[in-house]
Amino acid sequence: MKYIIVTGGVMSGLGKGITTASVGRNLKNKGYNVTAIKIDPYINIDAGTMSPYQHGEVYVLKDGGEVDLDLGNYERFLDTELTRDHNLTTGKVYQSVINKERRGEYLGKTVQIIPHITNEIKERIRRVAAKSGADVCLIEVGGTVGDIESMPFLEAVRQMYREESPENIAFLHVTLVPMDSQGDQKTKPTQHSVKELRELGLTPHVIVARCKSALMESTRSKIALFCDVPVEAVISAHDSADIYEVPLQLENEGLSEFLLKKLDLVKPTTEDAKW
Ligand code: ADP
Repeated sequence: MKYIIVTGGVMSGLGKGITTASVGRNLKNKGYNVTAIKIDPYINIDAGTMSPYQHGEVYVLKDGGEVDLDLGNYERFLDTELTRDHNLTTGKVYQSVINKERRGEYLGKTVQIIPHITNEIKERIRRVAAKSGADVCLIEVGGTVGDIESMPFLEAVRQMYREESPENIAFLHVTLVPMDSQGDQKTKPTQHSVKELRELGLTPHVIVARCKSALMESTRSKIALFCDVPVEAVISAHDSADIYEVPLQLENEGLSEFLLKKLDLVKPTTEDAKW
């Protein structure tokens, strides 16, 4: 199983959901079987009891799961059907760990965030990914890097990176590149959010930069230099008039080509096969 883990920096509502769904669509177009998991670090078990004024509409899945709207984007973009298990929340994870503790399954051990909560997160991710039969599983970590709530999830994916081979996991970080009053694109918020990610032991392989207008080449090179990624791994995700154009935009930026190489999924062309 190959995993693409999507994190977000600087602020919420940047477009992690649309980016995740778009990456999935592009990989599906290339013939890969793709699934997606959304991690919501809130303590609610699901989105069913949350005010739509605070959190947006609740999306209801075919199995009755009441989940985040992002799952709706995944279903539409990937043309697939997901289940409630594809939405992982802190509430679900803790509920199941506490139930196990009450049943005595931890054999008298002190139950802790590391390893018990992180093991539960990893088990759930791997179980859902394997059950889907997909080649690639996209995992969107909701919230913003640095939020206290998302720490156990980021720690769990850090452990996964250690446990899997490096070619099985790609980290994609969505960040903001604002403009100053002179119209210059500023990279400092991106630099700081990558620094924050690194402090947690995570190194992004791809930076998706959300910006008003296309990234300038100088901005792209600066992000590559400061965030230690190749220039081709800095992707311009400028505002699009229509979110259904985002997959095309990311494809033109060479994102899926880069991810396929990183994940060692490039199929030999007939030309290569001759040799
Ligand atoms: P997050 O998952 O980071 O909270 P979403 O994917 O839900 O963010 O996107 C937040 C909002 O930004 C949505 O209204 C979405 O339609 C919009 N959006 C996302 N990406 C783009 C883009 N490239 N261009 C224009 N709007 C976008």
